Amino acid sequence: MFTSNVDGHFQNAGFDPLRIDECHGSIHRLQCLVPCSPALWPASGLQPAVDETRCELLGPLPACPHCGAVARPNILMFDDYGWVEERRALQAARCRGWLDQVRRPVVIEIGAGLNIPTVRHFAHRVVLRHGGSLIRINPREADPGSMPGIGIPAGALETLTAIDALLGRKQA
Ligand SMILES: [Zn+2]
Repeated sequence: MFTSNVDGHFQNAGFDPLRIDECHGSIHRLQCLVPCSPALWPASGLQPAVDETRCELLGPLPACPHCGAVARPNILMFDDYGWVEERRALQAARCRGWLDQVRRPVVIEIGAGLNIPTVRHFAHRVVLRHGGSLIRINPREADPGSMPGIGIPAGALETLTAIDALLGRKQA
């Protein structure tokens, strides 16, 4: 599972955490803003109190336990030279290791747009490098272009549900 989502929903949905590559990091980990070290720690301990009317954080900002600087989410932002990438690098290495064992993969690309094409580039690399094919599910930008494969101009849930039903019918 290669995802640009940072919300951890794949883990929550039961996917094996060792088989998820979060290319933009995770909102569930914090890091030092400096950063003074590559250390990450769980964001679960952060329970910010917010003045909803004034849209202001009440109380102190979260701090790095090592140097006291402000902590930040371990999410890759634009022009972000302070992102601690070690955790993601490990995920990417595991993903590459798995892909090296796969022949002719079918890449199902879901809802990956053109504005931030990280996921699309990854899908293209996998298809080209491993001789696979692409199923692009996207309601607005489904054209697979020069990639071997098909585009399905529809939403993710309805498409996956339909594919699942067709596969179930074939196996019955
Ligand atoms: Zn620090």
